[in-house]
Amino acid sequence: MSAYEAVIGLEVHVQLKTASKLFCSCPNHFGAEPNTHVCEVCAGLPGALPLPNHQAIHYAVLVGLATNCQINQRSVFARKNYFYPDLPSGYQISQFDLPLCEHGKITISVGGHDKDIGITRIHMENDAGKNIHGDNASSVDLNRAGTPLVEIVSEPDMRSAEEAVSYLKTLYGIVTYLGVCDGNMEEGSFRCDANVSIRPAGSTTLGTRTELKNVNSFRNVQRAIEVEIARQQDLLEDGECVVQETRLYDAERNITQAMRSKEEAHDYRYFPDPDLLPVTISDREMEAWRQEIPELPKARLARFVTLTGLPEPEAEILVQNKDLADFFEEAAGLANARKVANFIIGPMSREANAQGLALTPHNWSMTAANLAELVNVVDKGSISNKIANDIFGDLLRTGESPQSYIESHKLAQISDASALEGLVDEVIKANPKEAEALSAGKTKLVGFFVGQIMRASKGKANPALVNDLLKQKLKF
Ligand SMILES: [Zn+2]
Repeated sequence: MSAYEAVIGLEVHVQLKTASKLFCSCPNHFGAEPNTHVCEVCAGLPGALPLPNHQAIHYAVLVGLATNCQINQRSVFARKNYFYPDLPSGYQISQFDLPLCEHGKITISVGGHDKDIGITRIHMENDAGKNIHGDNASSVDLNRAGTPLVEIVSEPDMRSAEEAVSYLKTLYGIVTYLGVCDGNMEEGSFRCDANVSIRPAGSTTLGTRTELKNVNSFRNVQRAIEVEIARQQDLLEDGECVVQETRLYDAERNITQAMRSKEEAHDYRYFPDPDLLPVTISDREMEAWRQEIPELPKARLARFVTLTGLPEPEAEILVQNKDLADFFEEAAGLANARKVANFIIGPMSREANAQGLALTPHNWSMTAANLAELVNVVDKGSISNKIANDIFGDLLRTGESPQSYIESHKLAQISDASALEGLVDEVIKANPKEAEALSAGKTKLVGFFVGQIMRASKGKANPALVNDLLKQKLKF
């Protein structure tokens, strides 16, 4: 038992997948030539007036509903003042004392135990642009300026890096299932700041916290929090103090480094934005939007566990991505669900890892009907499970029907006794001592013979038939 306990709260920025930016009609689109999606509003020119994007408000409310928040049907945009070159107006439009959503919670699962994590608030804000630092000069790209974000602020309810990652994955599942975020973490669509402090185990007062900025993968969140906890522990054990500051995680060196002292809310001189009316949401909108909440990952996971009989951690692989869950569900409607799941969790995940790709059906040509057909040809005994695994990569890439692939590659299992007898005889003849021992009752050797015969048939012999033939010939 460690003498210290970690206290972790997360602030997650989710980029909303709207067609245009939050306060202007510029395209909300990643990857264009610098400064091509910019107008007077998102460039912060004096006198340009913002107009809120209704779809962004709609999406933010969906996030609030799916995280069990209270939705404030009247909320207020506020200016958060600070100076930085990628923020030409000198203030970010955010929400302060009247955010859109408050007092929510989501349930995470770590090591088979459920735990509720409180959501303090969810507010809307626009993103800043991007500074690009070259060797001799720095430049600013404002394409991202004005992109709609929701910031989801948790209560400091997490006690370990594992809980923090579980929380993030749960939240990620929710926003991608809702379809309000494209979930592209490399492009920054889903990013997180972590507030980390430690305190003597059993204490109820909070220690001094540091904020880890913009950690952009689940793996790095885990590592960043772990090294920060260890760093704070070393400080306290050496009789030193933790300084309240913002730190950056360096993934290459696996350390956190001081970036700047932490601002307090009053440093930002928040005040209601005089250019924007309060956001109001009618009862009718609330009712309609409530109806739009789809089945979320947790409910789908419970259903898949029942459907496949798989333990939860394995079935979780099927629901982590909505497209994959849809793909599984379609195939499972046409073949044995457990076996369909096994192909996804086994060879399909391995293929994704080997190619460094996300586990989503869009990366390959195989259809759900193809996968179901593969399960069915194995079930019928046309090919062995081993051969199905061997050819899985080809089927994934080509999208070829398993049936026609098996025919064109002459892979069909040999289920005809006369075709197998010769092979069985050969293997018996090559292993006279073992054959004699098996005849005398040493049934442990059955596996040895079946293995030899399978190899001699290049995996195509029907194992049940091989067993029958051995029994006939060696009379055990
Ligand atoms: Zn614009």
